Amino acid sequence: MAEDTYDYIVTGAGSAGCVMAARLSENGRHRVLLLEAGPPDTNPWIHIPLGFARTYVNPKINWMFETVPQPQMAGRQLYLPRGKTLGGSSSINGMVYIRGNHGDYDEWRQRGCVGWDFDSVLPFFKKAENQTRGPDEFHGTGGPLHVSDQPSKFELAEAALEACVQAGIPRNPDFNGAQQDGCGYYQTTTSNRRRWSTAKAYLNPAKSRQNLTVQTGAHATKVIIENGRATGVEFQTAEGRKVAKCRGEVVVSGGAFGSPQLLQLSGLGPAEHLQDMGVPVIADMPAVGANLHDHFNTNLNWRVNKAITLNDLERSWPRKIAAAAQYALFRSGPMASNGVHAGAFTKSDPRLERPDLQINIFEWSTLRRGKDGVIPHPFPGFTLMPVHLRPEGRGTVRLKSPDPLAPPAVLFDYLRTEYDSRAILAAIRLCREIAAQPALKSYIVNEVTPGFGVMSDEDLMQFVRETGVSNQHPTSSCAMGTGTNSVVDPRLRVHGIGGLRVVDASVMPVVVGGNTNAPTIMIAEKASAMMMEDAG
Ligand SMILES: Cc1cc2nc3c(=O)[nH]c(=O)nc-3n(C[C@H](O)[C@H](O)[C@H](O)COP(=O)(O)OP(=O)(O)OC[C@H]3O[C@@H](n4cnc5c(N)ncnc54)[C@H](O)[C@@H]3O)c2cc1C
Repeated sequence: MAEDTYDYIVTGAGSAGCVMAARLSENGRHRVLLLEAGPPDTNPWIHIPLGFARTYVNPKINWMFETVPQPQMAGRQLYLPRGKTLGGSSSINGMVYIRGNHGDYDEWRQRGCVGWDFDSVLPFFKKAENQTRGPDEFHGTGGPLHVSDQPSKFELAEAALEACVQAGIPRNPDFNGAQQDGCGYYQTTTSNRRRWSTAKAYLNPAKSRQNLTVQTGAHATKVIIENGRATGVEFQTAEGRKVAKCRGEVVVSGGAFGSPQLLQLSGLGPAEHLQDMGVPVIADMPAVGANLHDHFNTNLNWRVNKAITLNDLERSWPRKIAAAAQYALFRSGPMASNGVHAGAFTKSDPRLERPDLQINIFEWSTLRRGKDGVIPHPFPGFTLMPVHLRPEGRGTVRLKSPDPLAPPAVLFDYLRTEYDSRAILAAIRLCREIAAQPALKSYIVNEVTPGFGVMSDEDLMQFVRETGVSNQHPTSSCAMGTGTNSVVDPRLRVHGIGGLRVVDASVMPVVVGGNTNAPTIMIAEKASAMMMEDAG
């Protein structure tokens, strides 16, 4: 067992962990160790925008978790891809750059998270950002995270956006600007048509620093806690078990599933559950792994009469070769974009203050999308994906076994309330209304799923239970707050334990009403600034 001593140890090199390692090592005064369970991000599909369909099911760089059977979802086990490589999920995600609604952060503040209202977090979004459109009141330039427009316009996305307007949803050129409502093209975390993960943005420029050690293939199995203080981390490598000692702070950045799992393995969690698992209890903390929040979605697919979709690319070798050549030579064509070109934010009920629905517009349609891959329909098609952004149901992340290398037991609580069902039904009906508008109608051959036989609320809910999935935005399983229903305080320090913070999507008190990568990066920017402040 080799031991080494660091000022900061970060476990998990994901969206948050790479930011933490880069920022904490920036002034050269602190020795920082970054531990990542997965390998380096050398798989070429990681870096090609359309490659995210390939990394969706690659066990070398993806944890490929599954939930336990979900009672409200016809007993199904839902597939949960998660990045397991440098960059974490920012290396396998859809690259859509969305911050959520300003009011989401004000809600965090109302829940006791002082310093996390929108005006307080905006500087950290801007600090992270290199916005290709240039700076303004809401956007920054010169930050590590490149945010770019789509490489071009797309025929079906244009038609779908026009259809949204015809259905009463106005155009919005910037979902991250003054207001979120409306429809438009998404910006992406890409640079020169390449994925811009946090490994690319933050870690690569920092890697050569003498005071930063990045260890891949290093699975953190336990935070060592002595006399109420984190003093090191145990981790498993191909060469065996190792320990790194820490004289400053341990930062847990394993994501919404990995972080509560590691805390529980370390003896911080619901005492009864830890005892059942045979883990010695250090502190009874019921909130560790509770409050799991997420977005929930289903998919509506249409067959179209023009071979302009990504389904057609996938089915034809000549088209694939042409697309590969176009990308290699000019960084353009279908491979240069993420396939989720556009979307809309709107409300399931006009009386709501903030949008609770997101409609993603995909230039492809799928027969299946899960643990066995992304299987497109054998005909041209597109998808409108209705996402419920504010489910009331909360789930749990618990240990399945005391084996630190075993996957965690994840239970969501989708469709918990009458509102949860009402919102997704409203979203489905809205998608159908959009598809029925003149701008889209002329392309459509037929609705493939749910299909026109599925009309009543009961039938649609059956469809939702049989097909609904996680939108891959889990948060809040180590929620920030001030009471016993939270794990970390507003400076992201674990309650009652010295030298231990959690910094990643798991600390969001409530999931934001939009994609979660940019908010997670913002959280890490703010956390690292707070830590540097605390370190004097
Ligand atoms: C398929 C998919 C598509 C998505 N699309 C989008 C999108 O288009 N836009 C968007 O904004 N968001 C998207 N998201 C969500 C977004 O990527 C995540 O919210 C964000 O990356 C979470 O960051 P994180 O730091 O909390 O966790 P992660 O980025 O998941 O990082 C956790 C890291 O910790 C490592 N780790 C875990 N446990 C251990 C351990 N015990 N020891 C060592 N290392 C460990 C993991 O391997 C991983 O590298 C998507 C996610 C997925 C999976």
